[in-house]
Amino acid sequence: MYQPQISVKTGTLIGVEALVRWNNTLLGPISPNEFIHVAEDIGMINDIGRFVNKQSMQDILQFNRLTNSNLRLSINISPKQLMEPLFVDDILNTAQDVGIKNQLITLEITENVLIVNVKKAQPILQQLKDSGFKLSLDDFGTGYSSLSYLNNLPINEIKIDKTFIDKLLTNNQSESLVKTIIAIGKLSQMTVVAEGVETKEQYERLAHLHCDKIQGYYFDRPLSLEALIAKYK
Ligand code: C2E
Ligand code: CA
Ligand code: CA
Ligand code: CA
Repeated sequence: MYQPQISVKTGTLIGVEALVRWNNTLLGPISPNEFIHVAEDIGMINDIGRFVNKQSMQDILQFNRLTNSNLRLSINISPKQLMEPLFVDDILNTAQDVGIKNQLITLEITENVLIVNVKKAQPILQQLKDSGFKLSLDDFGTGYSSLSYLNNLPINEIKIDKTFIDKLLTNNQSESLVKTIIAIGKLSQMTVVAEGVETKEQYERLAHLHCDKIQGYYFDRPLSLEALIAKYK
């Protein structure tokens, strides 16, 4: 599924985040929160990752050709995937085979992972950046990171975690934190994305605070490719 990301400045669609789904015949639809960690444990995450990479790149290329646009694609990369020796070669090959520009692709990596393993992650991230991919720090604010490492990693974007957006209008501390994250992003010349935006009021506050991009049910739930094309063509 693909969840739209809207530019606050222009109010238009600029990208989508790919969110994997598992429809099991017996159990019905299963959330990635339920199965990604299991897939990691049983050694299936790389197969799932390769499937997600290829399918989403093909779909977005199709969207772009059909609508003559340059929609960006964000893909979630689990820690185990990132650290897999063949990860960089794999994703480079996939993008090349599919025929999509690396520059259109953002890889979302959760903050916690990087803190645990900065030394190991740094050269991998640098290689990805040098190949043209953009890198996004997902669930920002939920880890216990020091700010200094932000400058040492080639990060282009931070995503403010939904838990802070949920409390944005009701909790002064959350609003201060969101303001601070946006300020840090601007100072470090990173794009700032807010996820989990569900109401007009949250959207307006974030626009007022100069957040760059918005993603959430207020605009769209995750959509199938067909629904994305139907709505945004
Ligand atoms: P995430 O990357 O933080 O993704 C955001 C989650 O919040 C998604 O849940 C999305 O559907 C949901 N969401 C977006 N906007 C709203 C909103 O306004 N309100 C509410 N209540 N929820 C919203 P989803 O799709 O169930 O994914 C859960 C997590 O699973 C993701 O969290 C991500 O960490 C992981 N995931 C999803 N797809 C993949 C994938 O292809 N590969 C890997 N490795 N992980 C994935
Ligand atoms: Ca994400
Ligand atoms: Ca997130
Ligand atoms: Ca998350």
